[in-house]
Parts: sequence; structure tokens; C-alpha cells
Amino acid sequence: MEQKIKAYNNLLELVGNTPLVKLNKITQNFNGNYFAKVESFNPGHSSKDRIAMHIIEQAEEKGILTPGSTIIETTSGNTGFSIAMVSIIKGYKCILAVSSKSSKDKIDMLRSMGATVYVCPAHVSADDPRSYYEVAKRLHQETKGSIYINQYFNELNMDAHYASTGPEIWEQTGGQITHLVACSGTGGTISGTSRYLKEQNPNIKIIGVDAYGSVLKKYHETREFDRNEIYPYRIEGLGKNLIPAATDFDIIDEFIKVTDSESAHTAREIARTEGIFAGYTSGAVMQAIKQLNEEGRFKKSDNVVVIFPDHGSRYMSKVYSDQWMEDQGFFDTESVPDGQKIQY
Ligand code: PMP
Repeated sequence: MEQKIKAYNNLLELVGNTPLVKLNKITQNFNGNYFAKVESFNPGHSSKDRIAMHIIEQAEEKGILTPGSTIIETTSGNTGFSIAMVSIIKGYKCILAVSSKSSKDKIDMLRSMGATVYVCPAHVSADDPRSYYEVAKRLHQETKGSIYINQYFNELNMDAHYASTGPEIWEQTGGQITHLVACSGTGGTISGTSRYLKEQNPNIKIIGVDAYGSVLKKYHETREFDRNEIYPYRIEGLGKNLIPAATDFDIIDEFIKVTDSESAHTAREIARTEGIFAGYTSGAVMQAIKQLNEEGRFKKSDNVVVIFPDHGSRYMSKVYSDQWMEDQGFFDTESVPDGQKIQY
């Protein structure tokens, strides 16, 4: 008898349905059970595959995108990679306007995935015609049948997680989840996932993770945009210097802030203890779990879900480079446990 070919039609069929993995060692002295939603299992290695696919498919349904149309966005990060991947597979052009601060590796990676990358000066203000925001807007206006993803201000970002990440976590935990702890950048992940989860059980606690140097926590507490909160920090993809419309601040119960150094060390600890090679913000989320445990916030019976948004391979020249850690002064802190620094 002829065997059936067991193949996916393309990578897009593999977006979502990422595994929920129990954390065993890094959490051994903590109260509660901890489960990581490992988003690096998406084919583009991050949670951003979900929003790229959802936003593009919504535009197809509305008839905005037709074969050969152009998709535009302003990021060199995970979202850029996911949009480039979806565009290649579906037959669209992808234009990414990025800041000249973006690393060469990132720009090369996006170009390798078929994207046209405009490198725009980092030192100009957002409303300068040369800024990556303005370049993206202009290209969108000039290009008929194009879409501008605009992830920080696009409601469909949240929708993507409402439709996929939320139901997956509810089903994978058999409805027994008590807490969700997730990083907030655009806020799409935490807002959409939480909206679904709270509809199933309004008692689930939602904790957002923010960076020192970002306005999100203060805005959540006061509903005021406080410029004094803003200063440079190292963690990429978490926190913001503006208030994203893609965040539903009402659905998040609280925010907790984490430092660059502790988050970096915790990312390295996840790899060494659990064997999960995860990105910088996965370290941030586990750092938040540590702090919440120090505050005695969890019970033994709690089922806490954390989201690990991307893969460690994107941070080889940063968090996973001893030289970079040294250059940041992250090895100088007294909080570094023994054995963190590899001796050659
Ligand atoms: N971690 C990483 C590495 C990211 O790229 C992002 C997206 N900016 C986030 C966390 C936060 O996800 P969201 O934008 O959905 O809040």
C-alpha cells in the first residue's frame, strides 16, 4: 500500500501551538508550579510569528493585500524577521525601515530573508522625515495596496494572541492556571492572552514585566505619562518610552520592574539549569518570578505560566557573550552567584 507523505505545506502551518514546558530546577526553591510557554518553537523562533501571520491574513481577508503587495514595518527585531518570513512564503514584498543603531547581524539576517531594509539615522527625532517612522509612513502612502503593520498601535496585535496564545495556555493547563507573568513591549502578548484567560476565569492574576527606564509601570499605576521614567536600558523588546495602544492596561493587574544585569544573569541560568536556550526577555520574566517569590507572593498550589518570547541564538553577541557581559559591568555586581562566569 502506498504510504501517505507526511509533510507540512509550508512553515506557516507550524506557527503557534508551541509547547508548555514545566520548569524544574530554576524554580526548585520557589512556591508553586511553573510552566514556560516556549515561543522559540515557532518557525521564525519567536512569538512575533503569530502577529505577523494574523495581521497579514486579516488584510488578505479584507482584500487589501493582493499577490505582490508590499508589507511595511519599522523593526529590526523579532517582528521584522517574522514579517519577512511570512512575506516570502505568501509572495509579498517586505520593506523594513530600521534604525542605524541596529546591529549589522540583524540587518544581514533580514536581508537574507528577502526583506528590503532601509537604514535610517538613529539620532533624528521621530517626526524628522529621515526617521524610520516617517520613512515607513511615506513608503506606505506611496505604495498602492501596501500595509503598515505598526505593531505598537495595531489592535490586531492583541487579537492574534487572543485567538491563539490565550486558548492554547487555557487548554494546556486544563484551566488550572492561576497566574500569567509576561514581558510587555507592545503589550500585544500579555493583553490578548489575558483577555482570553480572564474571560474563562476572572481570578487569574496577570503580572506584566517592565524595564527600569520604561514608562509602562508608572503609567499603569497613575495613568500619567512620566518622561522622568525614561532612560536607556539594555533589554530589547521589553518596556517602552511611549504608551502603546496595543496594550490593554486595564486587564493587567500589576507591573514589576527588573534590571538589565539580573535579567541577563537569569537568562544564562535558564540555559544552565533547564537546558532551554532562551532570549534576554525570558531572563527578565524569570527574574520577575524570583522577585515575586522573595515577596512571598505565590502559594504551593499555584500554577504559574511564564512566556519565553524568543530564542537565545539572537543574543550570542550580547547576553551569551562573556565579553559583552564584562563590558556592561554585569560581572561586577555582588549578586552574581558562583560559576556564572565561564573561565577559559
Ligand atoms: N520579548 C521580546 C524578545 C520581544 O521582541 C518582544 C516584542 N517587542 C516582547 C518580549 C514583548 O512582547 P509584546 O510586544 O507582545 O509585548
